[in-house]
Amino acid sequence: MPLHGQSYIAGASVKSGTEVFSAVDPQTGHTLEPVFHESSEKDVETALQAAEDSSSVFRRSSSKVRADFLEAIASEILALGDALLERAHRETGLPLDRLTGERGRTVGQLRLFAEVVREGSWCEVRIDTALPERTPLPRPDLRSVLVPLGPVVIFGASNFPLAFSVAGGDTASALAVGCPVVVKGHPAHPGTGELVAGAINRAAQAVGLPAGVFSFLQGGAHALGKALVQHPRTRAVGFTGSHRGGRALLDAANARLEPIPVFAEMSSLNPVFILPGALKERGAQIAQGLKNSLTMGVGQFCTKPGLAFVVAGEGGDVFRAELAKAIQSAPCGTMLHAGIGGAFATGLEHVLALPGVRTLARAEQSQELTSSQGRPVVLEASAETFASQPALREELFGPAGLLIEAKDRGDLQQLAEKLEGQLTATVHATEADLAGAQDLLAILERKAGRVLLNGFPTGVEVCHAMQHGGPYPASSDSRFTSVGTAALRRWVRPVCYQNFPANALPSELQNENPLGLMRLVNGQYSRDCI
Ligand code: NAP
Repeated sequence: MPLHGQSYIAGASVKSGTEVFSAVDPQTGHTLEPVFHESSEKDVETALQAAEDSSSVFRRSSSKVRADFLEAIASEILALGDALLERAHRETGLPLDRLTGERGRTVGQLRLFAEVVREGSWCEVRIDTALPERTPLPRPDLRSVLVPLGPVVIFGASNFPLAFSVAGGDTASALAVGCPVVVKGHPAHPGTGELVAGAINRAAQAVGLPAGVFSFLQGGAHALGKALVQHPRTRAVGFTGSHRGGRALLDAANARLEPIPVFAEMSSLNPVFILPGALKERGAQIAQGLKNSLTMGVGQFCTKPGLAFVVAGEGGDVFRAELAKAIQSAPCGTMLHAGIGGAFATGLEHVLALPGVRTLARAEQSQELTSSQGRPVVLEASAETFASQPALREELFGPAGLLIEAKDRGDLQQLAEKLEGQLTATVHATEADLAGAQDLLAILERKAGRVLLNGFPTGVEVCHAMQHGGPYPASSDSRFTSVGTAALRRWVRPVCYQNFPANALPSELQNENPLGLMRLVNGQYSRDCI
């Protein structure tokens, strides 16, 4: 399927801007065909007006139609076949097997949201029936339900060109609840974006939804993102990417006359705490696991464990030696794009220039190493250096880790207290370690959205219980997740109906419970009629 290099607004391909940009193959540095047309201010206006115009039909659409829509998107993505994977491979350098897995995850999460929509109880109906005889005051009839916010603007990250991009979890969760979506395409994978956007358009048409429920704007200028966030029709924003990008969009939203929520998933160091018993019992095994997680995908995962703490003592030398050996023989790999490769090189240089930071081990340089190749490295520093250097507590996106040795458990807790908000925190511990780790775990519960035991943080399951989001700067609102079915809570708000007659209530709230939902009625969960 040839690419046209244009945006899609409400189902139609559009090229109104005069500027163009190109994708670059990070493996060769060569520019890829075709050129892509930058969206204009007029496109922002048209896309958001179309989203608004489709909003009332979409919010009233049946759960069956929305579930069919999500499933049709999944089928259309699969129908793109190898052409999608090959384009994504050329635009990101990610291996084809990794992209095949990511496509499976993307399709799987669309289907999971379809199941959730069909079941229907996500809208959290709460009913307190009237108590007319109550004294001193009667209680009115009160019934609340979650309703969609309206048009949502989505920004995806470059490191997941499918699962966190055009039809990723943000888009799937917003469409599931009936919010029209305008995606700002990532300029590092515009062809992949165009293919997926076409699939969404075909799916909308197949199920008979208005075309305005989805638009896709190409662009590589920050001004486009800002204009989308500040447009008065935009009701919420979903963002996955860098701290700097997320913060800029959060500030732009807060500067609006009417501020709107921005759900930004940003940066995290994902600290790993290796407690003394575990270090002594299986230090070598933990070192191997840490290296695998740290170098997976050339370290370009938001859950990469970028920081490890050990307590000085038995097993420490074995752990350090094993980690150093594993890193030295780890492969180098192509990074997503020149910007990320450059930021990794500069960031590493900056950290290495800090007093007290040393290199523990670096992967052996392959002969064909180019500037876009990430070379795994583990640095080390004392607890004092870590505590006094805020730069060591910032994400270094790429295959780099920092090892810190604490004197004792008290020292470990003080270091944990120094951390900013995280997506994940991991503890390696024996049963005996755990018994003495309650204070550390209490700190980690405050710092992170997901706390793991004896594992590694890369690999985020898409399911009902997943929490992918943590205190700032891991995300802009730690109460929400961007992965898993709870992600849809970001795009809804509760409305309470007071003293409405049955025939004027939305069907979710009617006494007969025609949709068969699980509802909280007078404090008891049930699917019964009232
Ligand atoms: P990025 O550079 O922040 O880009 C993400 C999107 O935001 C792009 O569409 C980009 O478009 C836009 N953008 C960035 N800065 C902007 C600004 N100042 N104003 C307006 N728009 C802006 O992120 P990335 O480099 O692609 O992705 C890698 C980063 O994502 C890493 O830091 C990684 O940790 C993070 N990440 C986080 C998660 C998570 O769930 N927490 C998941 C995956 C990745 P333009 O380039 O056109 O500006």
